[in-house]
Amino acid sequence: MADKIYRVNMTDLTSTIEEVPAAWAGHGGRGLTSTIVAAEVEPTCHPLGPKNKLVFAPGLLSGTVAANSGRLSIGAKSPLTGTIKESNAGGTASQLLARAGCKALIIEGQPKGDTWYSLALTPDGVTINEEKELIGQGNFRVVETLAKRLEGKPGIITIGQAGEMRMGSANISIKDPDGGLRSSGRGGLGAVMGAKKIKFIAIDPKDGKVAIANPEKFKEANRTFAKALVDHPVSQALGQYGTNVLVNIINEAGGLPTRNFSTGQFAGHESISGETMHDTILQRGGKIKHNCHPGCVIQCSQVFNDAKGEKLTSGFEYESIWAMGADCCVENLDHIAEADKLMDDIGLDTIETSVAMGVAMEAGVLPFGDGAGVCRILKEEVAKGTGLGRIIGNGAGSVGRAYGITRVPVVKNQAIPAYDPRAIKGIGITYATSTQGADHTMGYTIATNILNVGGKVDPLTKEGQVELSRNLQIATAAIDSTGMCLFIAFAALDDAKCLPALIDLINARFNLSLTGDDVVNLGKYILRTERAFNTAAGFTSADDRLPEFFYTEPLPPHNVVFDFSGKEIDTFWNF
Ligand code: SF4
Repeated sequence: MADKIYRVNMTDLTSTIEEVPAAWAGHGGRGLTSTIVAAEVEPTCHPLGPKNKLVFAPGLLSGTVAANSGRLSIGAKSPLTGTIKESNAGGTASQLLARAGCKALIIEGQPKGDTWYSLALTPDGVTINEEKELIGQGNFRVVETLAKRLEGKPGIITIGQAGEMRMGSANISIKDPDGGLRSSGRGGLGAVMGAKKIKFIAIDPKDGKVAIANPEKFKEANRTFAKALVDHPVSQALGQYGTNVLVNIINEAGGLPTRNFSTGQFAGHESISGETMHDTILQRGGKIKHNCHPGCVIQCSQVFNDAKGEKLTSGFEYESIWAMGADCCVENLDHIAEADKLMDDIGLDTIETSVAMGVAMEAGVLPFGDGAGVCRILKEEVAKGTGLGRIIGNGAGSVGRAYGITRVPVVKNQAIPAYDPRAIKGIGITYATSTQGADHTMGYTIATNILNVGGKVDPLTKEGQVELSRNLQIATAAIDSTGMCLFIAFAALDDAKCLPALIDLINARFNLSLTGDDVVNLGKYILRTERAFNTAAGFTSADDRLPEFFYTEPLPPHNVVFDFSGKEIDTFWNF
């Protein structure tokens, strides 16, 4: 199936299939979404207006049997940060889009009236249909209804009520193989889809397949690559305890942001830890291993049941558990799981929304530790779009401004995730310099600062942190172009065979002869392209800073502050 660009214009409700421009041919995933957004979106446009475009791009290896290659990149100008944005997630949509021959789906324009639509993509093109039944419904209802309404097993990309209300925390959800949801969580991309009045996109590749230029070499490279992933000890820990294995580790390191980032350790860490979660899952008949898309060999996801043995949530991630747990001081794992399910259903980024709850707790909206109160606010305020619900649904920065709070952990208005930058300084450089606002996945220095993967850089000293973050951000931008899950990075950093096998996979797929240098240059190109967009949108190096309290409030137990000068942070861009 030859790759094409599918373009939908929501102003005049038309769609076309176009040849891939030569300049886009070598790109996939994040490299492609950022290239298209930079080329076609006015940097100063309103993110929720007709000039913004929403771009979906499978990775270069998506749709093939390459292990862990099913991430879908979604890009646009972000309504939360005002920067360029790429957010990627698992689920089945990336593989199915690639098999349909879709290199990228670009949605532009905006309808004038109140009518809502859905899109149906097949290899023959995209049809635009009016949608009434599912408007106002949560994501789980959308997935259940479409399972009955549509034939076969199409990929589903959907928004919940948060996206319909164009909230800054609105995510885009992607159906996984079991009818659960994976989220392109960060940056409010669900609000962009809502502004274009699209409730869901269904993808049916018919009998489409991805062409492989050299199948034998591809198979051989995939064997080596998959073995490197399976053999790595971090992959094995992820398959046993999920990403939540990190609660006890980051707590021990004194970098677990607790009580709205006022201390680095949580007294209730044991009750929300990966080990406790693992035992609870086994006692209740859930699944400790689960994949977010076919072909994953690490399986960090899981199915968490309630006390009656009924499924409560899946894909229960460390970042969500930390944010609703330690940051909001909620010790009850069932309350956290219930909140996780509600956020998935309403279509909210669990990091942004939970950090917003922590700021709201500091403001006295509800007490720290009130897990039941969080669930009530999600159901009765956020899902219904009340005044309070919209303040929380627009993120941590929105709550801080509404209530006059100074300890608001955001960079470029995006909530800081689960690692305190005072105690783990490398990640602070990533938060400050990322082109996307605070985002740990953009340059995951925790690997080297805490897990000793790819060497060791002491988390509490300044030395080596800028270089570490730079190298990881360049590598991550390239990995995000392949469709690979970020968790391949542990094996890629430690196992000498892993990265060459990944490059061999790309070469065998497209009949290329890329080298390691080409991969590094791709990563640099993506970061520079994204930064140029942000600069044209009005961002300067003054935006590459952490909030003031990180420099002035020492974090227990190490009693350290973030002590990089602006000049030191700016050396990140010396490449
Ligand atoms: S390791 Fe986890 S996030 Fe990565 S592909 Fe597998 S289930 Fe998805």
